Formats: sequence, structure tokens, C-alpha cells
Amino acid sequence: MEARRKLYNAYGMLPYQLRVSLSHISRIIPFKYLYGEKYILMRNRIKETEYLSVRELRDLCSRELATILLHAYKTTAYYRTQMFDKGITEKAIIQSPDEVLTALAFTSKRSIAENVAEFLSSKKDRIPHDYVSTGGTSGEPLYFYIDSSRSAKEWAFVEDQWSRVGFNTESRRITFRGSRIRGKGWEDDWITKERRFSSFELTDEYLKRIWPLLHEFAPHYIYAYPSTGLSLCQFMERSGKTLPVTVNAVLLGSENIYEGQREYIENVSGKRVFMWYGHSEKLVLAGECEHANYYHAYPQYGYVEFINDRGMPAQPGEFSEIVGTGFMNTVMPFIRYRTGDYCTYLGDHCPKCGRNYHIFSDVRGRWTQEVLYGQKRNVICMSAINVHSKTFRNVFRFQFFQEAPGKAILRLVPKQGFSESNRKTIENEFNSKFTGNVDVTAIVVDDIPLTKTGKFKFIDQKIER
Ligand SMILES: [Zn+2]
Repeated sequence: MEARRKLYNAYGMLPYQLRVSLSHISRIIPFKYLYGEKYILMRNRIKETEYLSVRELRDLCSRELATILLHAYKTTAYYRTQMFDKGITEKAIIQSPDEVLTALAFTSKRSIAENVAEFLSSKKDRIPHDYVSTGGTSGEPLYFYIDSSRSAKEWAFVEDQWSRVGFNTESRRITFRGSRIRGKGWEDDWITKERRFSSFELTDEYLKRIWPLLHEFAPHYIYAYPSTGLSLCQFMERSGKTLPVTVNAVLLGSENIYEGQREYIENVSGKRVFMWYGHSEKLVLAGECEHANYYHAYPQYGYVEFINDRGMPAQPGEFSEIVGTGFMNTVMPFIRYRTGDYCTYLGDHCPKCGRNYHIFSDVRGRWTQEVLYGQKRNVICMSAINVHSKTFRNVFRFQFFQEAPGKAILRLVPKQGFSESNRKTIENEFNSKFTGNVDVTAIVVDDIPLTKTGKFKFIDQKIER
């Protein structure tokens, strides 16, 4: 892990008062020292290449693709074997990376999970890296390694996309994104310029208590999951509360948004909604346009393909799966990875802003809006519940089952090596995250059946919404 992130994580562990004092000092530190050189380089690169022609962007993307393919060929058993079997040479990768890519098989969460060691680069120990996990509607968490440098780089992209609705390094955010909030129910982070609130306690009582604090902070943005944005607007409608006039936009990502919800949030809040598509694997990142609700995939971030249900490249207007090859993960390269997220592919040019990025709409992702209900029938969304915990390593699948507000059973399908202490750790972890809003009991089961339509649900919810 990079020294800067280590420091920031250490900062996060300090007692709150001490963090506040240190944060005041951080305000006088120039921005580039807080986020680092990789962040600055990436920001500049995005700006320099933003309005290149279709051809120039394709060339840029192909060069990045050649670099990651060559790295995978030289340092991972999985890709090397496959390329060798297909007669692909280093020369072919350098000369026509796009063709080489389409000759390769798709990878998936399953193929990676079953062959982790083969996907790992032999350079792993020389590259600073982290061990992370991702969930999704299959309910099977995937564990993988990823370069530590991705965080600073990704922040450059996130900030760039938000800048389309006016965001800059001085912007303050109010955040409802599943942070574990201790004590008084909110906390400030002056490094990221956020005031964070709980996503587990969205009761009228809690929201009434914190609403003056939300106004006092005079935020420029509200940063949340779509389902949380919805809960906030429903509260505003019931209570007649409004957002501060300082708010420019509501930033929503990491979860599906359904028909009519954007309009509802925009109507009630009186603010623009800005959305983006991304995932923990860091292969494709796509923020909306400033002029339309189309997602624009960053060609500097990863190589994106849109694959229709016949396994072929989608034509504009076709519903397709988002398939990504990331440029940031060199520890464990993800090449032609089927994300399990779907969209309508629209083309390689946005007529509204002039960027020659791949554009798409109607994202149907892995992250649904399933919810648990707290003791006071408060809504807790699945995206906030997601834990990136190593304790899930020995779990094949999990699912919540809820019949009464404030209580839930967590079903675990164990892998080999699962123990009673794993069960207890997972149970404790959720109970501590929910801070008394939901009492979780973890049980071990043999299997979790799919729904009648063959889908997996994170939450087997018996309470009507
Ligand atoms: Zn555009």
C-alpha cells in the first residue's frame, strides 16, 4: 500500500477530536501533496486527451491495451498459456492489440475465482498492492489483488467527471455512502471535505436531528447511493425539508436507478442528479455528460467492449453486456472480463458534448436496490450493507432473510475450511456495522435457491415495501 494511503488510513483510526485538529492543519497543505503525483499526472492526461478525434483516442487506447496484454503475456500463467495455444506472439500484441484481444476468451468472476494463482503476475511482490473483494447479484464474493496506485488515479477520473457539474478541489460534500459512523451520528473529514452521515439509520427522527447539521455545512454536493437519495427525498417530501441553496447537484452511483427515480429525485430536491457507472474491479468508469444522461466511458481508464447476447460486438441501440479490460491492475490483470452489468450501447461519439468516448444508457447492473428494514422500519440499502471483508473468504454464497423489521438471518453457504469462528466473526461484523438497527443472526445452510426466474437475490425480503 502506498505511504500516502497508509497515512490516510492511520488518520481514519485516530480518535475523532485528534482527527479534527489534524484536519485543520491539512487545509494549509497544497492539494498536490495530499493526492500525490500519480493523481496530478492522470488529471493532466485526461484533460489533454478529452477532445481527441475518434482515431487518436482509438490509438491511445490500443497502446494502453498493448501494454497490459504484453504484461499479461510475460508475467501471468493464465494469459500466457492461452496466447501461446493460439499462436499469439509478442510482435502480434505490439502490432495489433485489438485483434489479439478479440481472439482471447472472455473471463468472468468464476474463471478468475477458480484460478486466482494463474491470474497473478509474477511481478506481484514488486508492485504495491491491496487485497479487495467485490460482490454483486450472484452473491458470491470475488477476492482479488489490485495495485495500490489505483486509488489516486481513480480519484483523478472521479473528480474529472464530477467537474462536469462544477465540482472542484474546494467542493464540500455531504455523504451517505455506508460509512460506519460512531457516536453522535455524523463526522467531518476535512481531508476529503466531507461531512458523513449514517446510511443505516435513515429514520425520520435521525434525519430531523441531522438536517440542521447538513445545512450548517453548506455543502456543494450530496453524495449517495440512488436508493439512499430516494429515501432522503421521501423524507423531504414528508417533512417539507429542503436542501441547502449551496448544493449544485446530487451525485449518485454504484447502484441501479430505475424508471422515474431520477425525475422524482430531481423534482423533490430541486437539484440536478449526476450519475456514473463504475465497479471495484476498476475496468470501466463512465460518468454522465454535462448535457445529457448518457454515460461516457473513459478511454484512458480501460478498454471497453459491448457484447450482445450472441457474443458479438453490439451495434448502436443494442442491449449488451459491458466487458472490460482494465489498465490499472497490473498485479492481477483482468482482460475481457464480463462484468455482469448490462446497458444499451449508443455509439463512439457524443453529439451533445463532442467527446469521442463510447456512450451508453439504461445501465442494469449487479447492484440492485434491495433493502433491509431497521427496527423503526428505516430503509437500509444493499450497497451500504456490502462489506469488503476477508472473513468472507470461506463463504461461497450469502443471503439475508428478513421477516420482521430490526431482525435478519444471514444465510451462509460455506466453502471448505469454514469454521464456527468464521461464522461468529461475520455475525459480529454485521452487528457492529448496523449499530443496533438490525440484529443479525448468521446460520450455515447447504444451499440458497434462486428465484422462480432464476435470479439470485441478496435479500430474501418478506416485508412489503
Ligand atoms: Zn456528451
